[in-house]
Amino acid sequence: MRNSLATCIYCDEVVDISKGTGDHVIPEAFGEFEGDKHFHRICSNCHDRADKSVEELIRCSPEAVMCKRLGITSKRSKRKDHRKQIGANGTPPPQHTVLMDEHLAPVRSMDSPDDVETLDYLVAADEEGKERRIQLFPKMRPEQLKERLEKANVRSIVGAHMQGGDKTWLTYSKLLQEVQPGIKLTELPCIEPGLHRMPGRTFCTITVRYFQAIAKIAFHYYLIHSKRNLVGNEALFQDIRRFILDGGDKDRFIESCQPRSVSRLDTSLNRSEWFHLLAADESDSKIQVELQLFAAPESPTLSHRVTLGDLNKCVIAPEYVWGHKYSYWSKEEASTRILGVIEERPILKLPSNFWIPPQSVAL
Ligand SMILES: [Zn+2]
Repeated sequence: MRNSLATCIYCDEVVDISKGTGDHVIPEAFGEFEGDKHFHRICSNCHDRADKSVEELIRCSPEAVMCKRLGITSKRSKRKDHRKQIGANGTPPPQHTVLMDEHLAPVRSMDSPDDVETLDYLVAADEEGKERRIQLFPKMRPEQLKERLEKANVRSIVGAHMQGGDKTWLTYSKLLQEVQPGIKLTELPCIEPGLHRMPGRTFCTITVRYFQAIAKIAFHYYLIHSKRNLVGNEALFQDIRRFILDGGDKDRFIESCQPRSVSRLDTSLNRSEWFHLLAADESDSKIQVELQLFAAPESPTLSHRVTLGDLNKCVIAPEYVWGHKYSYWSKEEASTRILGVIEERPILKLPSNFWIPPQSVAL
């Protein structure tokens, strides 16, 4: 076998590790970092399978929201219409809302991450009396609205919020009359057209795929840095490999911790204050990686501890703990391709109480 030939750790297919860029530990969509090492022992087939999960991470998660808010673009994300946030494999993109008349109204985000545009929508009560919001659009046909109302188990229409001029009002009144004859419509005082600063919330939907992507990051990060001569195809990693490609019970591998406070994101959108933190610990009988993407003191993202496998009888040595901080540079410092730098952070042990603010993990 040529020196550059090896086998994929997931399926044993022969791969030429001198070719291609390999797998980025931190998804390429979150930017590239100076000093990054890529993971090469994965074939293109397995890479594509794992990428399905990465799509959910980069499009639907709180991390995806942060990526957009910090204005991070990559070769990959530039290909698509960057203004539009799209979901992944059936998982919806983040839903942005603003607080209006004591309820959350859906909005669409515009070019700049803080700019949003309100959408026209209907407030309806479902069979249990819970409020549902159904988006309206000017060319909506009565059947389309009826279908959506049925799908949402709606019993009655409570109200509607729309913006724009008299023309929009007429179009929607006609639509609503056709769907619910006799409906009474009254015009309420509306928000003046123009720019307003309003409180809002963003809702993210994540599925097991998000956790598969997190597990893959943890696993490849560990394999790149481990000095134990473990390549990844060993039996002790059999379960985590299967989870990364096929999914399963994430609780067997990942413990996640909510950030302690819900952040007011307007406090710091200076990119240079944000980083990804990865740390591995193999000093005990288990191999564990702790990671938080888009970490910062007020970050809204989850912190995860991933258990990759049991070492059992391996020699236990205290030096087998290490960490890396992937820091972003400010927008001015970043080049078109490289957005930050990776620094090794010496650490003694992963904190046992798990959630420690990221900056105190590094000594
Ligand atoms: Zn493979």
